[in-house]
Amino acid sequence: MKRRDVIKTIGLGAAALSASSLASAATNHKVYNWKMVTTWPANFPGLGTGATYLANLITELTNGEVNVKVYGAGELVPAMETFDAVSQGTAQLGHGAAYYWKGKTVASQFFAAVPFGLNAQEMNSWLYHGGGMELWEEEYAKYGLVPGAAGNTGVQMAGWFNKEIKTSADLKGLKMRIPGLGGDVLKKLGGTPVGLPGGEIAPALQSGAIDATEWVGPYNDMAFGLHKVAKFYYYPGWHEPGTTLECMINKAALEELPKHLQAIVRNAIRVANQDMLAEFTARNNAALETLVNEHNVQLRRLPDVVLKDIRKASEEVLKETAANDDMSKRVFESFNKFRAQAIKWHDVSERAYLNARADS
Ligand code: CA
Repeated sequence: MKRRDVIKTIGLGAAALSASSLASAATNHKVYNWKMVTTWPANFPGLGTGATYLANLITELTNGEVNVKVYGAGELVPAMETFDAVSQGTAQLGHGAAYYWKGKTVASQFFAAVPFGLNAQEMNSWLYHGGGMELWEEEYAKYGLVPGAAGNTGVQMAGWFNKEIKTSADLKGLKMRIPGLGGDVLKKLGGTPVGLPGGEIAPALQSGAIDATEWVGPYNDMAFGLHKVAKFYYYPGWHEPGTTLECMINKAALEELPKHLQAIVRNAIRVANQDMLAEFTARNNAALETLVNEHNVQLRRLPDVVLKDIRKASEEVLKETAANDDMSKRVFESFNKFRAQAIKWHDVSERAYLNARADS
């Protein structure tokens, strides 16, 4: 045999061996067939694909022992029944955003997005190293769920409008799709917040059922064609400065797994959390250029006078939310304390640097 053929033969032998040991692993270990339901259309860019990425990662890292199949919104249960489906064990995993469940758990909103709250970097810091995760776990345990931060959009856009916003009076009477605490702020300013899953936004705006909407940012908003149904695209996303997406796990299903598989599931969620923010940042950069340069979107910054009124209304909404619910009060206190520290540190780090870079 020539040397090259010997190497080829050894290579094939090794491949055959590893295939047979994989097969034996599969036969010797119990396979857990898990379902993941989501609030997103199947494989919707960034959010749906983020759910699929996480499901595949869990399947791959567990060598197929936890075999996850993803269901887009409406495929197994409607988008807004994701929480109940995982709580009841219809599915073992659910991918969504915690503020969608404000009707069941008011405090959950703080784990998704808070008006004038934490950005993505700060959210992860509060959750992982500032006590946030423990509070989130305590809250979801009441529903038989284990929460996980499973993605972040970064700072969102303020949204799509068919008229210019010059003073906060322009928000009065406005029917706008806006979830969570941001919706309560709009209400305080005289608008009407509407709750709609992502897939229903563009048709509602086109038919006039709503006057305005926010969704995520350039990459996601372009995918839904929102630039075709509204003229003005406003920033910054005061209502969602670093929205955390979630992967909730049915607690009983998680505890049924051997310890090492539980660790893989939890850590795969952590990997997905980081990856989604990286993807959103990269793709928003490019999509904003396309929206402005190719689709002639009218990009507008909310005037300072409007932001000032919204900030005041936001402070009132947060205080009221905390005053009306014990768990929200505890979460808000933890969040607020962390926010105050983060503002001071980021004034001399991130903000100082971004200002310096803009000036250079
Ligand atoms: Ca949003």
